Amino acid sequence: MRIGILSRNKNLYSTRRLIEAGEARNHEMVVLDPLRCYMNINAKEPSIHMRGKELPEFDAIIPRIGASITFYGAAVLRQFEMMGVYPLNESVAISRSRDKLRSLQLLSRKGIGLPVTGFASKPSDIPDLIDMVGGSPLVIKLLEGTQGIGVVLAETRKAAESVIEAFMGLNAHFMVQEYIKEAGGADLRCLVIGDRVIAAMKRQAKPGEFRSNLHRGGSATLVKLTASERATAVKAAKTMGLSVAGVDLLRSNHGPLVMEVNSSPGLEGIETATDKDVAAQIISFIEKNADKANRTRTKG
Ligand code: ADP
Ligand code: GLU
Repeated sequence: MRIGILSRNKNLYSTRRLIEAGEARNHEMVVLDPLRCYMNINAKEPSIHMRGKELPEFDAIIPRIGASITFYGAAVLRQFEMMGVYPLNESVAISRSRDKLRSLQLLSRKGIGLPVTGFASKPSDIPDLIDMVGGSPLVIKLLEGTQGIGVVLAETRKAAESVIEAFMGLNAHFMVQEYIKEAGGADLRCLVIGDRVIAAMKRQAKPGEFRSNLHRGGSATLVKLTASERATAVKAAKTMGLSVAGVDLLRSNHGPLVMEVNSSPGLEGIETATDKDVAAQIISFIEKNADKANRTRTKG
């Protein structure tokens, strides 16, 4: 197959690993910088171009679209979809997953466990908002944040009120969340492919920190999931419409709670912590599903 990887940089760990895994299975792997793709949207023959040339036909596309280029990246992926190319994750699912609040709303409708979360815009609603999530300590999250930046633990009600007022004053979008203390500064990253969790790691925050992001100095180890953790992760990915997802869970005293569903999960941390060949499993999933999709789909 000819498989395109939508990625800004072929030297990134995840991109490199996907190229290796694809080539090892005799596929032609082509890295496409989404920002260099431009498109012709028309009724007869939609096409995608790069540097003055029309791109050849692809059998499948692996989107690795960074949060900062979600809009343009999703548009390029959608254009491939319009041309009948199989996307590992669909553009609509990626856009959906990039909105943290919308994601939680969709997950809640399916009865998936979540930290109690509040959202408001008026300063006069702050006291009730804080009560709704069980008072302090509580977590305040900027909706646009990634890698733990913009996630604040407010230990007291006073601190929570000032941070919320400040964010409201800046017109920033944020949500307020119950603090899951018993998680002990750890979360679980579950790598879902199709209807299975194929690798999972526990990320532990460094001492004195509650955010377990590896970018914030957290450390990752292999972890064995419970049956309910597995089921929750798979259901969360399915609810978002993602074939491949990194589902982040907190271990609470009332079962697994979903924090976030990531549509372009990084491979480095999870492959290193678990010693699993995640890239090869992604390629093998594409082999099984791209063919089927191309046979059954009416193009466009
Ligand atoms: P980001 O998308 O920026 O990584 P997260 O929502 O995943 O933001 O939060 C970053 C980290 O903070 C999580 O990995 C987790 O360790 C911790 N955390 C986030 N929300 C909560 C919460 N409600 N209770 C306890 N810890 C939390
Ligand atoms: N993009 C990384 C991932 O999805 C984030 C890891 C982190 O924030 O530490 O695995």
